[in-house]
Amino acid sequence: MVNINRFIKVVRDIHRRPSGIIPLHAPVFHGKEKPYLLDCIDSTFVSSVGKYVDKVESIIEEYTGTKRAISVVNGTAAIQVALRLVGVKNGDEVITQALTFVATANSIVYNGAQPIFLDVDRDTMGMSPIALENFLLEYGEKRDGKVLNKSTGARIAAVLPMHTFGFLCRIEEIKRICDEWGIPLVEDAAEALGSFKDEKSAGSFGQIGTFSFNGNKIITSGGGGVLVTNNEDYGTKAKYLTTTAKKPHAYEYFHDQVGYNFRMPNINAALLLAQFEQLEKYRALKERLYTSYINRFSGIDAHLVPIPETTTQWNYWLTSIRLEDKAERDTFLRETNYGGVMTRPIWQLMYRLPMFSHCQKDEQLNAEFLEERIVNIPSSAYEI
Ligand SMILES: *Cc1c(COP(=O)(O)O)cnc(C)c1O
Repeated sequence: MVNINRFIKVVRDIHRRPSGIIPLHAPVFHGKEKPYLLDCIDSTFVSSVGKYVDKVESIIEEYTGTKRAISVVNGTAAIQVALRLVGVKNGDEVITQALTFVATANSIVYNGAQPIFLDVDRDTMGMSPIALENFLLEYGEKRDGKVLNKSTGARIAAVLPMHTFGFLCRIEEIKRICDEWGIPLVEDAAEALGSFKDEKSAGSFGQIGTFSFNGNKIITSGGGGVLVTNNEDYGTKAKYLTTTAKKPHAYEYFHDQVGYNFRMPNINAALLLAQFEQLEKYRALKERLYTSYINRFSGIDAHLVPIPETTTQWNYWLTSIRLEDKAERDTFLRETNYGGVMTRPIWQLMYRLPMFSHCQKDEQLNAEFLEERIVNIPSSAYEI
């Protein structure tokens, strides 16, 4: 059992905050945010085009080692468009994991498709390749170059794993299975900017990867997201579709399909550029915080979730601890939040939500185990 009073004291000591609320994850603005925002306003290019959009896209391409990066309004829109580009259509099905943030599953339904929820690995908390392989062997049927789900007759049009808290899931194995079956792979890497497996960035393994720059992520543009891909054709189409599918012309308006207004405004990109310049510093500060937690938690029986072997560089986005059982977790959540140290449970599994309760799923031994026990603890990139 964690000694909760000592836990609160240790967290307050480490953060040097004897009173007041310690947030779960607050953004930090110590770089060139203000000069870039002022410059953006002075330029009058605050909206749909501008040099900051171009700049952040090329920086993200370089950082993730991908050929194309297309910035959009948020991470959810990035997944929605990524699925559409790889061919997800009305009536299709997309395989994802039950343990995720709701946006992953919503983005499937925005395309008129239905999610299938598979179990996760206990260490990575991301999609289990064994669960994927077993599901496809049991229900998958290759017919006319498609993979159909034997139990519903629908086409399985994509696989969408998520890299939980910045830990990479077993993405290479998942990729191998997807390639064998000929199913496109889209990675929800919303939480994983700055995480790598052997120099290869999260989000760069599948056909398309997506990141989020929401206020709680490792860097923020206020609201924003990006798609990354090594496929030039997807890159060009992503830009086109997210900018109302307008044919380039000096003054005529001609659109040849129903596109989206999903582009990231230049003013958000200005904020993002300043944040990007501090990404490595944030990672280092968060690593230091994690190390302080390791050093102080052994004495109070609090079990930090370790970095899985899949992740050779972690972004340290959100630190979590594992409680003994649901009863201990519930007490821990109540008393820490009451004591001003913000903690949050991991998400409820998607099939517990009313709109996804009818969806197909496998046995969720690991997801249900984690759902009852994992709690996030304060993880901001403060100078501690
Ligand atoms: C944050 C997040 C998203 C969505 O990002 P937004 O920018 O908030 O739309 C999607 N998936 C996961 C796993 C996330 O954590």
